[in-house]
Amino acid sequence: MMNSARFSVGMQGIAVSERAYQQAVGFARERVQSRPVDGSARAAVTIIHHPDVKRMLMTMRALTEGARAVAYVAAAASDAAHQHPDEAVRRQNQAFYEFLVPVVKGWSTELSIDVTSLGVQVHGGMGFIEETGAAQHYRDARILPIYEGTTAIQANDLIGRKTLRDGGAVARAICAQIAETEAALGKHGCTAFTAVQAQLAKGRAALEDVVAFVVANAKSDPNAVFAGSVPYLKLCGIVFSGWQFGRAMLAADAKRAEDPAFHDAKIATAHFFAEHILSQASALRDAVVSGGAPVNALTAEQF
Ligand SMILES: Cc1cc2nc3c(=O)[nH]c(=O)nc-3n(C[C@H](O)[C@H](O)[C@H](O)COP(=O)(O)OP(=O)(O)OC[C@H]3O[C@@H](n4cnc5c(N)ncnc54)[C@H](O)[C@@H]3O)c2cc1C
Repeated sequence: MMNSARFSVGMQGIAVSERAYQQAVGFARERVQSRPVDGSARAAVTIIHHPDVKRMLMTMRALTEGARAVAYVAAAASDAAHQHPDEAVRRQNQAFYEFLVPVVKGWSTELSIDVTSLGVQVHGGMGFIEETGAAQHYRDARILPIYEGTTAIQANDLIGRKTLRDGGAVARAICAQIAETEAALGKHGCTAFTAVQAQLAKGRAALEDVVAFVVANAKSDPNAVFAGSVPYLKLCGIVFSGWQFGRAMLAADAKRAEDPAFHDAKIATAHFFAEHILSQASALRDAVVSGGAPVNALTAEQF
């Protein structure tokens, strides 16, 4: 029951992010402000032409698409865990689904705060005006990382029941699957595919380091390990999203002729995600592996 409730709140995060994105795109297509930096027009243009507005919209789009893909993979694993005829496959899918649930809940709801906040930012001063509805999404998103277990509670579950209980076996099995996607991306050769492969390899290596750190130190130094629980959860969210973007761009490439505009946008979004978001994986790794001591340095009285 709790898995289902947590999964559903993760979907709420994805849904409010999608709504905020669509509304921000609509506003950016209409709002006229400033001339383009490349001098392509002498008059002011709609703000969707400004590179920083595109960056904000791409961030909103990429975070939302990545989280949605991870949630769908989790949902498919849940179906297989219940319906697959082979008992061993059912068990494998159940373990995979259970590992993903705190990530779907924690990551999709944390990012919904960032995405809906960017939605306000795209609107500029109008974002602060109630009538646009942009601030309503931000406010609605703010509860999501709190109810059905705060992000820290999801992250404690990720470390305790999902990583330590099996000595990191499921986490390492996921990393092995990610490495297979990297290999498939490497065979392609185009710039976007090579870039995603490189960032995915770095992200997967960061995740392997963190899993090894958690497993090795949880007993001897639990305060240091749990100080990195939320960065670990975020690292999983970023790397799993990057993994699904890798799979999505391979699928988009295979079907490109059917709808070039849609599939090219998918590939461009995957490339953006790799360079702007997946690239943050090594910083999260450092926060977990080296950041425990400074988190715990102050006594309660020193705050
Ligand atoms: C709008 C709304 C609707 C709700 N609806 C329902 C409902 O229908 N049914 C229901 O049962 N509940 C509901 N709740 C309650 C909700 O589930 C809790 O507020 C939530 O689980 C957080 O618990 P808490 O408020 O006791 O916060 P606390 O547990 O006091 O947490 C405060 C802070 O401490 C952190 N923290 C606490 N323990 C740990 C720990 N072990 N490790 C690390 N950090 C920790 C938390 O992450 C958080 O940042 C609702 C809450 C709200 C605001």
